[in-house]
Amino acid sequence: MPSTTCDAVVVGAGPNGLVAANGLADAGWDVVLLEAQDEVGGAVRSAESVASGFVTDLFSAFYPLAAASPVIRDLHLERHGLAWRHAPDVVAHAFPDGRCAVLRRSASGTASGLDRQHAGDGDAWLRMVAGWNRVRDPLLDALFTPFPPVRAGARLLRRSGVTGSLDLTRLGLLSVRRLGQEEFGSEEARVLFSGNAMHSDVSPDSAGSALFGWLLVMLGQDVGFPVPEGGAGMLATALRRRAESLGVQVRCGVPVTAVMVSGGRATGVRLADGDVVRARHAVLADVPAPALYRDLVGPGHLPPRFLDDLRRFEWDDATLKVNWALDSPIPWSATGARRAGTVHLGVDDDGLVDVAADLSVGRMPERPFMLLGQMTTADPTRSPEGTESAWAYTHLPRRLAADEGALGRQVERIEEAVEAVAPGFLATRRARQVQTPRGLQDADGSLSRGALNAGTAALHQQLVMRPTRGLGRPETPVPGLYLAGASAHPGGGVHGACGWNAAVCALRHRGPLGMVRRAMVRTAWSRVLRDPAP
Ligand SMILES: Cc1cc2nc3c(=O)[nH]c(=O)nc-3n(C[C@H](O)[C@H](O)[C@H](O)COP(=O)(O)OP(=O)(O)OC[C@H]3O[C@@H](n4cnc5c(N)ncnc54)[C@H](O)[C@@H]3O)c2cc1C
Repeated sequence: MPSTTCDAVVVGAGPNGLVAANGLADAGWDVVLLEAQDEVGGAVRSAESVASGFVTDLFSAFYPLAAASPVIRDLHLERHGLAWRHAPDVVAHAFPDGRCAVLRRSASGTASGLDRQHAGDGDAWLRMVAGWNRVRDPLLDALFTPFPPVRAGARLLRRSGVTGSLDLTRLGLLSVRRLGQEEFGSEEARVLFSGNAMHSDVSPDSAGSALFGWLLVMLGQDVGFPVPEGGAGMLATALRRRAESLGVQVRCGVPVTAVMVSGGRATGVRLADGDVVRARHAVLADVPAPALYRDLVGPGHLPPRFLDDLRRFEWDDATLKVNWALDSPIPWSATGARRAGTVHLGVDDDGLVDVAADLSVGRMPERPFMLLGQMTTADPTRSPEGTESAWAYTHLPRRLAADEGALGRQVERIEEAVEAVAPGFLATRRARQVQTPRGLQDADGSLSRGALNAGTAALHQQLVMRPTRGLGRPETPVPGLYLAGASAHPGGGVHGACGWNAAVCALRHRGPLGMVRRAMVRTAWSRVLRDPAP
């Protein structure tokens, strides 16, 4: 059986796997990166899949998290071909009656728009942005480092003081509905937050949803919702180029079928074709937690208590995506949506709660909420002048993800909803591609039924509960094996932190205090997995 040996093997070349490989190679490790699909990128890929000359982002498209991430920033991907582009406006929420909420590139621009909708909302906006600016850097550091974020947490506390820290803690527990009601008079301002909270799978009425909405809206005001010039895949290409320039061996089309465990530690991986890649120091897995533990490691190598916790792992909702090549820009009746890269539509602020309730009880939303991307508006290289490359996606209950009749009807509802806010839209369609939940999963095995976040983002699966009760860190109960994908803290989105944190932990376990660190992790896991006293 042919075999290769390296310092570390990384399974999965999504953004997290690519970042992990870069981090390890920066430290001089000899790294092999293995990807099941024929190209790298995971849910960061693009192709001319709808019509010739139209570049379509096949999964993710807008990258505020990447633009703000200290991890991605420090990789200097612009030296490897990445260029960010911005739409004239960041995000809009289009209502059927022609109203529109618009997040503009400048805080004063957003504030004056909101103030026109309700006097006083402009000042409320500027106060919120000033509060964000105060905590931004330590907060992002705390979010993107392994748990517990000791240094960043201390800086955050110093910067915000006791009052500010209490405010932040409250924000972390608040529902986004309540946040909107407390701060703003108009539905337009409120729906900016609740619509952005719906980028996660947390209901706008649930504790914790305010933090998602606030974070994404504040990032949108701060760094925008940028897109890579030429397509989402250019971000993955830049990560691959950088990794290869450091000597990382990237192999595509090679699904990993097992993590090899010997002497109680991870020693390498087995590939579908029977090849083996041995790892002297570490195996990093950019795959969702259930796939890693159940399929690749196998229950025989895991403590019963851990397997029991894994049974409780909760996925996020399924996703249905429609891509279009349009002969002209979308004819919005809500004119505020014309210049925005991302447009939310389909329901109003109350309607978002109805959608969340439908998803919760397993009912197909009759009035779906949609996130729509106008990619040529954001980056003119995406399609010929005067046309638009666009997509929209919506969430579905996981139980209906394979119901073809229900999916077909939902595609019709998506197009009807766009037509309702942009009469004439249907006539602009040159070509269309539907990505069903199954299609999304076939194109990236980590996207279970199209789930965006590799596990729910709800509070009960965050921090030390992510992906299961544990350390909230990349170390797994198998020494030498690190969870590097979005199932790990801090979760979904393209920020690279899950991969980076895994690489840093693997390196530290081989560094000067490595033995001590490894012993501490072993002890911590044994405490977490110990059966409660009878
Ligand atoms: C439709 C959609 C829209 C989204 N929109 C946005 C957005 O606009 N902005 C944003 O920030 N985030 C967005 N996201 C979320 C974001 O794309 C993901 O959170 C992110 O890609 C997770 O990165 P990852 O590296 O952990 O996993 P992935 O990107 O899923 O990559 C995992 C990789 O591992 C490979 N793999 C899995 N199993 C194996 C195996 N056994 N052997 C070898 N390889 C394997 C897969 O093929 C894949 O390439 C979106 C996601 C989806 C699905």
